[in-house]
This record gives sequence, C-alpha cells and structure tokens, in this order.
Amino acid sequence: MQMNQHRGVPPEWAFEFHGHRCPFMPLGFRMGQAAMAELGVGREQDHTLHVIAELGEGHPQTCLMDGIQIATGATFGKTLIEKTHWGKLAATFWYPGKTAVRFALKADFLNRFGGQEFFAYRKRGIEPSAIPAEVTQAAIDWTLFLSDDEIYLVTQRPDFAYTPPQGSFNRSACTACGEYVFERYLRFRDGKPYCIPCSGYKG
Ligand SMILES: [Zn+2]
Ligand SMILES: [Zn+2]
Repeated sequence: MQMNQHRGVPPEWAFEFHGHRCPFMPLGFRMGQAAMAELGVGREQDHTLHVIAELGEGHPQTCLMDGIQIATGATFGKTLIEKTHWGKLAATFWYPGKTAVRFALKADFLNRFGGQEFFAYRKRGIEPSAIPAEVTQAAIDWTLFLSDDEIYLVTQRPDFAYTPPQGSFNRSACTACGEYVFERYLRFRDGKPYCIPCSGYKG
C-alpha cells in the first residue's frame, strides 16, 4: 500500500483488483481505514482483525466488501471477513482487547448519493464497466467532499462477542475419495473418516 496516499482514496491497484471503477469499493476502503483508526490498529498482516459484514447477496453495493478487505487486510482468503446475510450496508470490526466498532452507511447519505447520474445507469441494468468513466468518477469525487461523519454512522459495541474458530493443522484422508480433509470438516461413518460430499451428510 502506498502510505502517501490521501486517506480514503484507494490506490490504483485496488481498482485493478476490484475489476471496475465504482463508488462503493472506495466507500468500503474508506470505511475500513476509518475503522482501523477507530480501533487503533494497523492493516492486518496475519489473522487477528475480523470483520463481520451485514451484507447479503443479490443486492447492489456489495462492492463495499472488496474495499473493506483491501484497506484492512481482513480478506476472504484469510477467513477474516464474513457476512451475516442481513442485506445491510454495515460492518462490525473486531479486534481482541479493543472495543468492537460498527460502521454503517447513513440512510441520509444514501438518499443524497442516489441523485448521482451513476445510479441512473445502474438502475437501467448497466454494469459499472460500461458506464462512462466521467459519470463514475463524478460519483466517486462527490463522496470525497463529504466528511466521514456525513457518510458513516459509527457505534461502539462493547458487548459485541466474537470467538474466532480454533485453528488446526490436523487432517485425514477421506476413506472414499482419498482426498485430505482438515479435521473440523471430517465426518465419521462406522468410525471411518469421510469428506462431507462422500459422507452423505449435508454439512
Ligand atoms: Zn464495484
Ligand atoms: Zn471424499
């Protein structure tokens, strides 16, 4: 990450990773940076910071989550971000020993933001990569003139309880297919280990 980058503006590689230019990846990026500042932690290198996002699937603006991952290093691949599937534009940031903090996009912000021409294209089903670049950039720039406080509702969550899954390197080969399975996912039939698909169990 370029450290001289203006806070809240994603570096160019973030747009390359995300695949298109849009305003919601940057809003997630800025949310992630603001949340790290609120927690007093840096970008996650390993496996400590966890993000519990309240988004679901099949609704717009899920691009937020790529921005959150890019800013915080709490990535899907490191299993540091999960979804509650509530279909809300919010996320709680949890770090052991700190008070968890929830960031949500304010309804008033979204109402105002909806007036951007970008959304007229999106509502017609036009994908972000097909929207004129200046229209998308105008939507991104519009957000940059707003303070964090105008965009995000920030709530301290001292009672937020989260227990990361216990890590384990233990694995066994499935009795049927021979492929290795990490132990928490092994299923047993007649005392023999199986992977979930071979076990006949649903999960
Ligand atoms: Zn996007
Ligand atoms: Zn198997």
